[in-house]
Amino acid sequence: MTDYLTKLFIDGTWQDAAAGETFPVLDPATGLEIARVADANADDMTRAIDGAEAAQPAWAALPALERSKIIRRAAEIARADIQRLAEVMTAEHGKPVAQSIGELNYGLDFLEWFAEEGRRTYGTTVPSTGPDKRITAIRQAAGVSVAITPWNFPSLQILRKLGAALAAGCSMVVKPAALTPISALEIGRFFAEAGLPAGVLQVVTSSKASRVSPTIMADSRVRVLSFTGSTEVGKILMREGAATMKRLSLELGGHAPFIVFDDADVDHALEQLVAVKMRNMGQTCVSANRIFVQRGIAPEFTRRLVERLSAMPIGLGSEEGVEVGPLIEDAAVQKVEAHVADAVASGASVATGGKRPTHESLANGHFYEPTVLTGVTDDMLVARDETFGPVAPIFEFDTEEEVVRRANNSPYGLAAYFFTRDVNRVVRVSEALQYGTVGANDGTISAVQAPFGGVKESGIGREGGHWGMEEYMDTKYISLAGLTRP
Ligand code: NAD
Repeated sequence: MTDYLTKLFIDGTWQDAAAGETFPVLDPATGLEIARVADANADDMTRAIDGAEAAQPAWAALPALERSKIIRRAAEIARADIQRLAEVMTAEHGKPVAQSIGELNYGLDFLEWFAEEGRRTYGTTVPSTGPDKRITAIRQAAGVSVAITPWNFPSLQILRKLGAALAAGCSMVVKPAALTPISALEIGRFFAEAGLPAGVLQVVTSSKASRVSPTIMADSRVRVLSFTGSTEVGKILMREGAATMKRLSLELGGHAPFIVFDDADVDHALEQLVAVKMRNMGQTCVSANRIFVQRGIAPEFTRRLVERLSAMPIGLGSEEGVEVGPLIEDAAVQKVEAHVADAVASGASVATGGKRPTHESLANGHFYEPTVLTGVTDDMLVARDETFGPVAPIFEFDTEEEVVRRANNSPYGLAAYFFTRDVNRVVRVSEALQYGTVGANDGTISAVQAPFGGVKESGIGREGGHWGMEEYMDTKYISLAGLTRP
């Protein structure tokens, strides 16, 4: 049996939970327990915050170049070990190993990018109001930060927060999702090996957020809370963060429209749709959830989409050639089933999929077939709520004005995609879509140097690029007066 990390990473050491409790980690492809991991409580979280507080000033005081070297070394160590790390991720998450490797490489790109950007956190000198004064604005690390992360990208969601926090000079306590804690612990391991000083990073696993979250939210030493997860929890944290006026970065739910106009390069649009719909079995916040196809090309586009999705091999993520793994847990499959049943009851048709696969070898896993729905309308659940699964509902539309209005008709505003060859339309629609991230003829929008994030109920703040550093830095204005000349 693989030797998984199972202890809390606090103050640079591997520790059992104070109360000795543990919780199981299950393989979603088989339903089998792969490990039991330390189940932290409030005392453990307080210890972690104590450690982060103690370590932060010295970390911030290190020259940026020294911080940068340690972060880069961590990335190097992880890259050398990427196959094993990917297999660990697949065991607890289910995604095909090739996708786990892709996720890890992208997460490590963030470490490397922020390691460099940390050397460029320039301040500003501003013309003053008199010859005896100088006005400067410097940027300083905000202090102790906490990351609360979801299970859908077990490493990436942590690495893009951690890279920015460490480069800025913050310490960080990571509270990963209970479904995928081991990939988070692995991050503790490769940073420890890279020589990160004890206490700068803590990884605290817990079976229920309620065991540790009140401690985080009540502690005034935690200055930054970076959360990725559901809008519902984001709203709770925004309310709770008010008590100590934490700086919040919230990456929340999405309900991305994917619009194909009849003048689009259809081959390219189809390629991009398959990629953005099926990555992670549709369990991404930027997944194409509402696929709007202009009426004239809809039948042919749908036929080709069905052909592509129905040919994708389903199976265990650890098996060669598999493109569609299990969903994370049975509740996720049940949500997909409820969305499909609701659509069908209201008049939609299943063009492919629409059920759990029947193959015996998949019987104990949380699998669902790639699914295309036609005849879908805006009142159905799939149109209003994040499905978070491998379901592609096709909505037909007639005009640009109509589709922009329908695409914007959502409380979410994370990512949107559209495809057209008309350059005037590219500009018009890019500007009219009420989303934080827009892919114009592009479904693969991920880039470490770009500002990723949402508007409306998809959150506040940006991750990636120099914007990502801002989340972990305060601007201090220094007014120096009384300068004299000889
Ligand atoms: P979730 O909100 O249930 O959980 C996310 C994290 O929050 C987990 O670590 C969980 O333990 C913790 N949590 C849950 N309740 C909490 C509470 N009351 N207080 C403090 N922490 C709490 O989300 P999930 O189901 O793990 O992830 C799926 C959701 O995340 C989807 O809505 C998806 O769109 C969203 N998401 C957003 C982005 C983005 O970048 N915008 C990226 C990925 C996922």
